[in-house]
Amino acid sequence: MKYDLRKMEKKLAKYLDEDRYVHTLGVMYTCTALAMAYGCDLEAAQAAGLLHDCAKCIPNKKKLKMCAQHKIPVTEFEEQHPFLLHAKLGAYIARHKYDITDEEILSAIACHTTGKPHMTLLEKIVYIADYIEPGRDKAPDLPFVRKLAFSDLDECMYEILKDTLAYLEENPKELDHTTTEAYIYYKDLHLRRGQNAQGLPGSIHQPE
Ligand code: FE
Ligand code: FE
Repeated sequence: MKYDLRKMEKKLAKYLDEDRYVHTLGVMYTCTALAMAYGCDLEAAQAAGLLHDCAKCIPNKKKLKMCAQHKIPVTEFEEQHPFLLHAKLGAYIARHKYDITDEEILSAIACHTTGKPHMTLLEKIVYIADYIEPGRDKAPDLPFVRKLAFSDLDECMYEILKDTLAYLEENPKELDHTTTEAYIYYKDLHLRRGQNAQGLPGSIHQPE
C-alpha cells in the first residue's frame, strides 16, 4: 500500500464535521466500487475519495486567506463564492498535509465541484461518486444516475451536469463557467454518440 488510508481517515475526522466525514466515507466507498467496475487504481480512488472534501470545513474567510498565502490563483467568481475554493485548496492540502504526490489524485480533488471538459477516469469517478454516494438524497433521478454510473461514465457525467445546470440556472449568478464548459463537452459527446448509433454522419466536430 502506497498510502496509509487509516491514518488519513483519523486525521480527516479531526478536520471535518460529522456529516462531512460520513459523506467522505460514502464517497470513498463509492469511488472504490466505481474503480473496480472500470479498472482504475483502487488505492488512488480511495485516497482521492477520502481527501476530496478535506478543505470543506475551513471557514470561507480562511479559505481566501490561505489561497492568498499559498499563491493559489482565485478567480473573481471564486472570490464571490469562496465555498468553491475547497476543491483547489483541498488539492493543495492533500499535497502538503497528506503527502499526496500523484498528480491525477490532486487534479481529481481540484475539479470535483465544477467538473471540466475531457476528464480522466479518476476525475470522473470522484466527480460522480460525490454526486451518487449513498448519503445523497436531494438530486433528481438518483436511482437512474446511480445505475448509469456503473454502465457509462461519460453518459453519467452528461446527466449529472445537465441536472446541475438546470438547478443552477434558476440562479444564473451562481454558475461557474467551468461547469458550463464541462456540460457543453459532455453534451457534445452524448449527441455524437446518438448520431453514430443512428448511423448518421459521425461527428459534429469532424477532424479537419
Ligand atoms: Fe466538495
Ligand atoms: Fe463532497
